[in-house]
Amino acid sequence: MIKVTFLGTSGSTPTKQSNLPAIAIEYDGDVILLDCGEGTQRQMMQFKVNISKIKSIFLTHAHGDHIIGIAGLIRTLALNKRSEPLLIFIPKGQEGAIEKLINFDNALIGYKIQIIPMDKNILYRNEKYQIKQFKLSHTIPTCGIAFEELPKRHFDKKKAQSLGISGDMFSKLSRNGYIKIKTKKILLSSITTLEQGRRIIYATDTRPCASTQRASIGADLLIHEATYMDANKSMAQARMHSTSLEAANIAKKAKVNMLVLTHISARYHNRMEVEEEASKVFKNTKAANDGMQITI
Ligand SMILES: [Zn+2]
Ligand SMILES: [Zn+2]
Repeated sequence: MIKVTFLGTSGSTPTKQSNLPAIAIEYDGDVILLDCGEGTQRQMMQFKVNISKIKSIFLTHAHGDHIIGIAGLIRTLALNKRSEPLLIFIPKGQEGAIEKLINFDNALIGYKIQIIPMDKNILYRNEKYQIKQFKLSHTIPTCGIAFEELPKRHFDKKKAQSLGISGDMFSKLSRNGYIKIKTKKILLSSITTLEQGRRIIYATDTRPCASTQRASIGADLLIHEATYMDANKSMAQARMHSTSLEAANIAKKAKVNMLVLTHISARYHNRMEVEEEASKVFKNTKAANDGMQITI
């Protein structure tokens, strides 16, 4: 199960009901944080996401509403006696903003923080999932994030049996990609099928762009910013953000399964209106609220 918790869903400024951007993805015992707005650590407590399980943090860009929560979070982790290293990813050239948030008061931080520039396509990979980046279109260099579960291989047991494969021959076959039985070479691909992994795409802050559409094709979940509604389209253009309709168009073209709108301007008190506007273009749309959880 992949659990996505929306920790903060407001753009630029918080409101009484909604905090600044942050999303937690929980998978296989890891917590992966996407953005870390001010107050994210408290939102995690509130919505029961374990801060000690954070493996990595992906910051889309160094605008204050997306990163200021790092300052408090890393200090709490230090007070909790974290020993495991923490990986913080940020677009290349913006590392200095994070260094300042870490170092401004000479706090004692007893674990290693690695600040990693997002200059590769695949940013992180283990045996279960990988995290990739793609370029967004905003006022400063900004990265979209793709969480991808790696495909799972399933053996066709009957076929394997009929070929005389048993016991530890399976692990040998998995390791080498083939096995020899007498003179016959059997390829791993000939007796297995691949189950596609689940994919979550996160695009904020940005104008609607082709790279988001490309990254999102067939995704299980697209989380796209919708700072504005269509009536304020000119503001979205001027400030390099998106409208709910523009986000819905990306979801429709990319044929995603579900669209969640976030980074919603504090001026919209009724998020149902934001959701309804987008739903006219892409039916399976939800406007996020703080604490909303989606399992895939
Ligand atoms: Zn923002
Ligand atoms: Zn921004």
